[in-house]
Amino acid sequence: MADLRLYFLGPPRVALAGASIDLKRRKTLALLIYLAVSGQPHSRDALATLFWPDLDQKRARAYLRRDLAILNTGLGSQWLETGRETVELRREPGLWLDVSHFRHLLAAGQSHDHPPESACADCLPLLTEAAAPIATTFWPVFP
Ligand SMILES: [Zn+2]
Repeated sequence: MADLRLYFLGPPRVALAGASIDLKRRKTLALLIYLAVSGQPHSRDALATLFWPDLDQKRARAYLRRDLAILNTGLGSQWLETGRETVELRREPGLWLDVSHFRHLLAAGQSHDHPPESACADCLPLLTEAAAPIATTFWPVFP
């Protein structure tokens, strides 16, 4: 299975097997972000209501089907688990999400025996790595 790397801290970017994918539609990208960051299955009705609140349920679900099809085409069909009533992004080993990586790095420091607002010599590299993509995205001249 080709690696799927999702960069959502900063301008969103989706890369499959090292190549960036342009999903074209912002709502398709938003749907992928929501499925990836929430990390749980969602009912089709809930997704349809969340993403197309102004439409009736039948039309909203039709738009949801269209965007799920776009995702399946762009990412390959192995990444989305699409049941009759629920949808989720599969947590396969090839999936890498910067938000999860960021959380993991922060959690590693929180297991240490000091207050969370101070950093020991072991924390500092973790926090530096966690902040790196954010710093380069939002403060490109940050030293
Ligand atoms: Zn520490």
